[in-house]
Amino acid sequence: MINTDQKVILSGMNLCELEKLAKTLDEPIFRAKQLHSWLYKKCVSEFDQMTNLSKDFRAKLNEVAQISDTKIKQRLISSDGTIKYLLEFSDGSSVETVLMRFDNRPNLTACVSSQVGCPVGCVFCATGERGFVRNLEVREIVDQILTIQRDTALEVTNIVYMGQGEPLLNYDNVINSIKFVNEELEIGMRRITISTSGIIPQILKLADENRQLTLALSLHAPNHEIREKLIPVEKKYPLEEVVKALRQLTQKTGRRVTIEYVLIDGVNDAPEHAKEINYLLKGLNYNVNLIPYNSVNRDDFKAPSVKKVNIFKYILEQSGKKVTVRLERGSDILAACGQLSGKEV
Ligand code: SAH
Ligand code: SF4
Repeated sequence: MINTDQKVILSGMNLCELEKLAKTLDEPIFRAKQLHSWLYKKCVSEFDQMTNLSKDFRAKLNEVAQISDTKIKQRLISSDGTIKYLLEFSDGSSVETVLMRFDNRPNLTACVSSQVGCPVGCVFCATGERGFVRNLEVREIVDQILTIQRDTALEVTNIVYMGQGEPLLNYDNVINSIKFVNEELEIGMRRITISTSGIIPQILKLADENRQLTLALSLHAPNHEIREKLIPVEKKYPLEEVVKALRQLTQKTGRRVTIEYVLIDGVNDAPEHAKEINYLLKGLNYNVNLIPYNSVNRDDFKAPSVKKVNIFKYILEQSGKKVTVRLERGSDILAACGQLSGKEV
């Protein structure tokens, strides 16, 4: 809560914490609601913009508090409208947060990071290559969304935990950040997606807690042999077991899961692989999101041709499930899936 200047950081405080602050500063309790609205609805960056607060109170706030200490280190705008932020926290570590707008849709999706770096180390991912640095705090996760809102004056409507990190390896902070955006920012559970490489105990925990958010599994291979070459965590949590955990989750929550599948030419994109997937996932409530491989830094990997992608999609559709190909967003600014490395570009 306290930064190096010993100022209290307000962004990320819930209503109850703001009420305590108002009390400490000898202000009436209703001031907390006003502050809450300026912080999370109107998203201003300065106390002096909070015009319905008395001058006196604003002066007090300027003295003892600060709205946020998250810094925008770099902001890149893609030709498709995607904005990639490189944000820096008070300890100097940085992560990316991406804001995606899709044509003809009112939704505004924030892709947030849950860790600095990632311990999973998938061979096709720039974040994995960076290694693991640390977990993000709840406040650091929610301030990614709030920083975007303050910067753009736009309201984020959907959140995907698909930035840096494996969200289920920072379980409590991720769940508490979801609780915050749900309660304080009023973003519905159904508009929130967590993507995981398949951490079984936490998938089962999520199932037990019966949360109404969407879980996306990074499947990326039709079988154990191929998957263990791409995703090291497959050795610990083999895909057959992961799929079993998904079945439990969908039965418990009634929610459909999303299967993400990065298509890499000549590695996991053969027609027989698609058939194997249909068999593996039989009876599960799911849809599939295909992601043609985005260039990171492996010369030996490339995306398949459009024709190959379409054949793969066609075979998957024989299962009767919905299959989409993920629109590539922001690849000209290295903001696409797998391209987040925490470095300036
Ligand atoms: N750590 C989480 C969320 C991360 S990113 C996870 O792995 O699920 C969101 C998706 O992008 C994941 O499915 C991830 O596997 C995928 N991805 C990673 N590197 C990629 C690349 N180079 N090209 C395309 N997709 C990639
Ligand atoms: Fe981590 Fe996800 Fe990248 Fe794998 S794809 S290294 S789990 S961020």
